[in-house]
Amino acid sequence: MKTKILVTGGAGFLGSHLCERLLADGAEVISADNYFTGGKANIVHLIPNPYFEAMRHDVTLPLYVEVDRIYNLACPASPIHYQLDPVQTTKTSVHGAINMLGLAKRVKARILQASTSEVYGDPEIHPQPESYRGNVNPLGPRACYDEGKRCAETLFFDYHRQHGLAIRIARIFNTYGPRMHANDGRVVSNFIVQALKGEDIAIYGDGSQTRAFCYVDDLIDGLVRLMAAPEPFTGPVNLGNPAEMTIRELAETIIRLARSRSKLIFKPLPQDDPRRRCPDIALAKAELGWTPKVGLEDGLERTISYFRSVL
Ligand code: NAD
Ligand code: UDP
Repeated sequence: MKTKILVTGGAGFLGSHLCERLLADGAEVISADNYFTGGKANIVHLIPNPYFEAMRHDVTLPLYVEVDRIYNLACPASPIHYQLDPVQTTKTSVHGAINMLGLAKRVKARILQASTSEVYGDPEIHPQPESYRGNVNPLGPRACYDEGKRCAETLFFDYHRQHGLAIRIARIFNTYGPRMHANDGRVVSNFIVQALKGEDIAIYGDGSQTRAFCYVDDLIDGLVRLMAAPEPFTGPVNLGNPAEMTIRELAETIIRLARSRSKLIFKPLPQDDPRRRCPDIALAKAELGWTPKVGLEDGLERTISYFRSVL
C-alpha cells in the first residue's frame, strides 16, 4: 500500500517540488490549492501520473480526504502577495491550520507545518536558534503573515498537547529556485528577471541588509527528513542555508552569473524589513542529519537557466 499524502499549496513553488519528490519516493499525492499564487503550470507534468491528484480547494474551508500524512504549505509567501489581502492571509494561516489539524486528528495523520523565519521578525539575536522568541511588530504590514504563522505554530502545539497529534514544524528561511513566479516579488526572482531583461536592479534600502539563501532541492530534502523523523521529535526546526550575504552582494553575483549589463538602483526600504537574517541549523544537523548541499552560485546558475527558458 502506498502512503497517501496531502500537500496543501501543492501548486506553489515549494509545493510543486515537494509533490514531485514524494511521487518519486513512491507515495500517492493529493495537491490542494486555490491557485492564488501557485499555478497549474507548476504541476501539469505530474497530472499523467495516476498516483497524483490536483484539487482546487481553499484551506480556509474544511477538507475531507483520507490520508496518512499532511504537509501544510498553503499560504502566499512573498510580501507583495501576502500584503494584497492581509485579512485573507491571516485566515489562510489560522483557519487553514485549524482545518488541516482537524483533518489530521480525524484521520490520525502526521502533519507538518511550513512555518517561517519571519516568526523571528527583525531579530536581535544572530544567527537565529529555534529557542529565540523573536521580535515581531504585531501591528505592521508584515504582521498578517508573521503573526498568522506564529498563531499556526501555537495551534500545532495545542493540538499536539491536547489531542496527542503527531506534529512537525519547519521554520523555512529564504528559499529560491526554478518555478518561482517571475512576478513573485521576492528578491532572487526579481533580480534574475531584471538582470536577464537588462533592466535596472532595484535594491530596497542601501543593500546592506542580509539574508541567507537555500536552494529548493535542499529545502525539500529537509522537509521530507523532518516528516520522517521518529517520534517524539516535533521541532520547530530551522531549515535554511547559513551562507549569509548582503542584498547588494546578491545583486552583484546575479549580474555576474547572468552576464548582464544591468545597473544597481536604490529604492526605499519597506517598513519592518528585517536587517539581518541567518539560520542556526545545529538542530537540523543533529536531529535530521541535514545540511544544505547546493552552493549559492550553483543554485543561482540553475535558477537563471530556468528563467531564461520561461521569459
Ligand atoms: P507560493 O506562493 O509559491 O506557494 C503557496 C501556495 O499556496 C500557492 O500555490 C497558493 O496558490 C497556495 N495558497 C495560498 N492561499 C491558499 C489557500 N487559502 N488555500 C489553498 N491554497 C492556498 O510560496 P512558496 O514559496 O512555495 O511557499 C510555500 C510555503 O512555505 C508557504 O506556507 C510559505 O509561508 C512557506 N515559506 C516559504 C519560504 C520561501 O522562501 N519560499 C520561506 C518561508 C516559509
Ligand atoms: N529586496 C530588494 N529588491 C527586490 C526585492 C526584495 O532589495 O526587488 C530586498 C527586501 O527589501 C529584503 C530582501 O531583499 O531586504 C529579501 O526580500 P524578500 O521579499 O525576498 O524576502 P524577505 O524580506 O521575506 O526575507
